[in-house]
Amino acid sequence: MEKELFELARERYGVRAQVLVLAEECSELAAVACKLGNRGSDLELREGLGPVADKLIDELADVSIMLDQMKLYFDAKKIAERRQFKLDRLATRLGVEPGYDYARYKKVWNKLP
Ligand SMILES: [Mg+2]
Repeated sequence: MEKELFELARERYGVRAQVLVLAEECSELAAVACKLGNRGSDLELREGLGPVADKLIDELADVSIMLDQMKLYFDAKKIAERRQFKLDRLATRLGVEPGYDYARYKKVWNKLP
């Protein structure tokens, strides 16, 4: 269903226009993320409640739709490979083995004094 909708968007507007929409939505997300990080209350940051958090959620939805479209328009397999590489790199930076049982690690980590 979504795939057909995204194909329709490609036919109607073209990939170039959709890439520009991606850039626009990412910019909107970046702006509200900065606003929340700079001026968001603890409640907004901890619980995701409040008008700025609501705006962040709205922009996250926009970007997520555009990312799904890009996976269709570009090489989804390559994107998945790069994603895994970057997840492994993050794990290494956090001091855990890539592919390790992160949920188990988190339980141990949270019990440390
Ligand atoms: Mg938006």
